[in-house]
Amino acid sequence: MPYTVLARKYRSQTFDEVIGQDPIARTLKNAIKTAKVAHAYLFAGTRGVGKTTMARVLAKALNCLAFETPTTQPCCKCESCIAVNVGDDIDVIEIDGASNNRVDEIRELRQNAIYRPARSRFKIYIIDEVHMLSTGAFNALLKILEEPPSHVKFIFATTEPNKVIATIQSRCQRFDFNNISARLIAEQLKSILEQEKIKYQEDLVLPLAKMANGSMRDGLSLLDRLISTGSEPLTTELLEEFLGQPNSEKIYHLTAEIGDSNAAGTLAALEDLVSAGLSEVQIVDSLIDCMRDLMVAKSTGTESELLILTAEQRSRAGELAEKFDTAALIYNITTLEKLRWSIKNSDTPRALLEASLLRFALSEHFLNVDQLLSQLQTGSSAAQKKKQPARSVRNETSIEQRGKPETTADEQTQDKPVLNHPKTASQRKNELINDPAVKTVLIGLDATITGIEEAKNQKP
Ligand SMILES: [Zn+2]
Repeated sequence: MPYTVLARKYRSQTFDEVIGQDPIARTLKNAIKTAKVAHAYLFAGTRGVGKTTMARVLAKALNCLAFETPTTQPCCKCESCIAVNVGDDIDVIEIDGASNNRVDEIRELRQNAIYRPARSRFKIYIIDEVHMLSTGAFNALLKILEEPPSHVKFIFATTEPNKVIATIQSRCQRFDFNNISARLIAEQLKSILEQEKIKYQEDLVLPLAKMANGSMRDGLSLLDRLISTGSEPLTTELLEEFLGQPNSEKIYHLTAEIGDSNAAGTLAALEDLVSAGLSEVQIVDSLIDCMRDLMVAKSTGTESELLILTAEQRSRAGELAEKFDTAALIYNITTLEKLRWSIKNSDTPRALLEASLLRFALSEHFLNVDQLLSQLQTGSSAAQKKKQPARSVRNETSIEQRGKPETTADEQTQDKPVLNHPKTASQRKNELINDPAVKTVLIGLDATITGIEEAKNQKP
């Protein structure tokens, strides 16, 4: 028997089956019950969240031959329902806006729309990615939307509603589809694995659901890929091997080394991930996720609903969170996010990643340097500094200071008495540049230097 992809095999058939879009399903059912179905709908939302599925359910509900009038429970067995299910009905016409975007095609649609449906109550046009239509095509469409024949319904779907012209939007009833939560995706994946009688490791499902990023279709196609490997049971190791998802244990290990300020251990743990075939960007993404989990665990406790983790991962996140303070985690996340973009445009992504991770691991060694540099920037004397110890030219610096209550700004200033003398800015700059400690740090840290330049430019 040929393999049917899961997204097709398990496509929701009724309003009650559509996952994660209950309010929309309820509103549409109400419209059918009260005979107030609009003549045009706009379904907006990211890919794979159920827009086309919902459009087909609505089409079946309007046209089901088992009932005299539109129904909230289409039979899914009549000729019309079966044809709509596979997108091949004579009265329910599915058009891909991306490939049929020319004005002629919409004119043709307009001419055909005049004719009554062949066997059902309505002629229904489902136009996917409607924002891709050309301006001419939009205008042609607008003409028919202004005075649609009573037997015509339109369902437009788009991932970019802002590109759908206002005159079309104002003639549609719009529904915004939510991204589907990882928890709901995980439930569906589990139920499918059980129906398919495929053995799997319990810990596999949540990470897989998280990888889908709110898209049920992506979740199912990831599962398709795992199933196609032919290995059973499906395990978390398969995620690493076939889907490039870092093993969570390895990411936890790297995070622990950073938290323990172990420079050598940090680089070794990174090497472990790189040699497993992961790209720098994948590693950064996973670290952002991990640091985010620690931040949430630290702020709301490990039992928080905000954590999409297995029981074992929760306790692990709790332990790891002890190694960081919240401010450091916030700093790390924002730095990693910036790093992600730098890495994509860098010829030396590995070095950038290593430098940044060492920066996290050795954060206490950087406090004095940041403090000195901020003094250099403001050109203020130590006395002025004391009046405003919390102010710093860089947000990152102040975050770090707040995160390290054991060293105050004053102590740090005293560490380097050289700055207490009234010297010119250029004298201070020379002293700083020639300071061996500063030199070492600056050489390794492209990111820090850039940050200072930016801050300088921002000064009025
Ligand atoms: Zn039917």
